[in-house]
Order: sequence, then C-alpha cells, then structure tokens
Amino acid sequence: MSLTQKVLWSMGLGIIAGLVINLGGFNAEGGFVNEYIVGGLLYVIGKMFITALKMLVVPLVFFSLISGVFGIGDIKKLGKVGIKSFGLYMLTTAIAIAVAIGIASLVIPMFSSPAVQTEVFIAKEAPPLSDVLINIIPSNIIEAFATGNMLQIIFFSILLGISLLMVGKKAESIAEGVEVLNEAMMKMVTIIMTTAPVAVFALLAKAVSELGLDLLAQLAVYVIVVVVTLLLHLFGTLMLILNLLTRLNPFIFLQKIRDAQVFAFSTSSSNATIPVTLRSVTKRLGVDNSVASFTVPFGATINMDGTAIMQGVATVFIAHIYGVELGILGYLTVILMSVLASIGTAGIPGVGLIMLSMVFVQVGLPVEGIGLILGVDRLLDMMRTVVNVTGDAVVSTIVAKSENELDIDLYENREAGLVEA
Ligand code: ASP
Repeated sequence: MSLTQKVLWSMGLGIIAGLVINLGGFNAEGGFVNEYIVGGLLYVIGKMFITALKMLVVPLVFFSLISGVFGIGDIKKLGKVGIKSFGLYMLTTAIAIAVAIGIASLVIPMFSSPAVQTEVFIAKEAPPLSDVLINIIPSNIIEAFATGNMLQIIFFSILLGISLLMVGKKAESIAEGVEVLNEAMMKMVTIIMTTAPVAVFALLAKAVSELGLDLLAQLAVYVIVVVVTLLLHLFGTLMLILNLLTRLNPFIFLQKIRDAQVFAFSTSSSNATIPVTLRSVTKRLGVDNSVASFTVPFGATINMDGTAIMQGVATVFIAHIYGVELGILGYLTVILMSVLASIGTAGIPGVGLIMLSMVFVQVGLPVEGIGLILGVDRLLDMMRTVVNVTGDAVVSTIVAKSENELDIDLYENREAGLVEA
C-alpha cells in the first residue's frame, strides 16, 4: 500500500471510530474514554503531528522562497507572479462567495427557521485596511518568525532573495546552500509524513467523536447548502477555471492534490498543510519551486474560497432567521468584506467564524446569530479548509503554466507519488 492509500484508510477508520464514540455516547464528560482516550491518547498523537507540521512551515517557506526568488532570477517576473496570483486568489474568492449568496438566497427562504439554541459568541471588529497593509511589513523579523506571521515572513524572504540577487556572484554559494536546506526541509516533510496514518486516525477520531451530530439535523438546511456549494466550487468552478486557463486535465489534478486535501481535512488549517501542499504541487503537479514557494504560502494566508462560501451562506441564513433584509448593497458589502477579511487573517482552524463576525459588524447583522451555527462549525471547518487548499493549488498551477514554469510531463505522469518523489 502506498502512503496515500494508508492515510485514506486511516481517515475512514478514524471517522468510523469517532462515530462509534459519539453515537454510542461514550464521550461523556469526565468518563474514561473522554479523559484518557479522546482527551488523552488521541489528543496527544494528533497534537504532536500538527505541531510537527507547524514546525516545518516557517523554515520551509523561508528557504523555499529564497531559493525560489533566486531561481526566478528576474525581479520583473517575480512581480508578474505576484500580481497574477493575487488577482486570481481574489477573483476565485469573490466568485465563491457570490455563488454561495446566490444559492443560499434561493434555497434558505424555502425553509422555516429552526429552533436552535444559541451559544455566546463574542464579536471582533475588522482591522482597518490601513492596518492590514502596514502589518505586511515586519518591524522585527524575529518576532515575525517566532509568531509564524506568514505575510511578514513572505515579505522579508522575498526581499532577502532580491537583495541576494543584487549582490550577484558573491551570493551564489549562499543561494546554493539555501537550496540544499530547502531540499533537506522537504526530506523532513517526508520523515514526518511517515507518521501520518496514525496521526490522521487520531485527529479524525477525536474530531468526529466531539461533533455535535444532533445539532446537524436541526441545522440541516445550513449545513447542506454550505456542503453543496463547497462541492460545486471544488469540482465545478475551480476545475473549470483550471481547464479554461491551462487546458490541463482536471481529473489528474484532483488525483494528485488528494494528499493535501486529506491533510487539510484532518488539520482544518491551510497553514499547517503548507508543507504537504508545497510538496504535492511541486513533486506531483510539476509546478516549479520558483512559483510554488510564493503562491502556496501566500494562498494559505490570503485565499479562502471555502471560508468565503461558509460566510455567504451563514449571512443569508442568519439574516433569514432574524428577519433582516440586507438588500443588494448589503450583500455587495458582505462580498467585499469577506474578500478583504481573508487577506488579513491566517489559515488556521476556526478563523472563518472570526471573519464572519467582522462581516456581521459591518453590515449590521446581530453577531449573536453566529452562536446558532457554532455547534456545526468544526465539521464545516474541515470541509472548507479542503476547498481553501485546493484553490491555492489551482492558482499555483495556473500561474506556473502561464509563466512556463510547469513540468507538463510530470503533471501528466499519474505515477508520481507524494512520498516516493
Ligand atoms: N480553517 C480554515 C483554513 O485554515 C480557515 C477557516 O475557515 O476557519 O483555511
């Protein structure tokens, strides 16, 4: 069995184990299973794995970006990659939320409002755009690295890469050294991935055992509209855009991005998935590191198609329950706010709800409304993170193709495996 197959199996088994614990009612507060299995063993294994992935993110992004910039060797080209990927990320996110609002507006009013309990949710105000812009620049690079601030790390690494290019010949040995370190980091990803089957089992068993499955039925309309729109975006919009802009076969793409999707699902974090996405995109899809090293971490931070979809549906859903008419202008504000909020927030678990509260404050929807959907958000977070990460990979592939940085033979070679590569 290949590692991918093993991971898929453990994902299935983890879900089953989680369902058994949840539906069997074994996860009662303070009980043995709750304390030692779910809160003990499964928690520790899952947490160790995610921590190990996070450990890789900062050095991986740093080394791969420097060698990427050095590899491009041309500042103009770098600018083109930056502008194209930024434009595509914003465009796909805007399409995602517009479609979500459209579908939700059609479907949700057909159902009566569910009587669900509200949990307390505390709103966050959106940072002003000026702060978002200022925060791209680190005032202290150690702090940026220590806190894993992706946009700041990207900013500094690119600047360092460009500066090394400007130094010229003398910098070549350093660039080579960084290249070696980048390769070594990729090997480290391989090492950590060997533990993935066990870790994915633990992550999923724990997550599923804790899901509020009974809430699911009450919020069925909301959950179903989000899930259907996510699937539509993943298999429809994104694949269509990929095929239209590159003429590449989307089925191969879907097959090769599966690993990254599994890890996105298990970790609910685009950021923690960066090592796997980077690997899938470069070693399986054939995107050159000079493009991927930039587009993947950049996308993990600013591109959130799946999150935008949840926000669109949630807005319509909660406006419906509270009987608020948002109107065209209100919905346009929602679209704009979600796109902007996705730039300023990192791809980590649960951040979508924080962004949602920013959107609600802006359009004047009651923020307590978010309490209604809190209970099912864990599950939807897993699903939307898959769409977020897939979007990052799609844009990386499109940009690479347009810059002649895509190895088409590797893309079309269905045998190219993740860990074996
Ligand atoms: N968990 C998502 C991500 O990492 C963000 C969110 O929607 O909460 O991409």
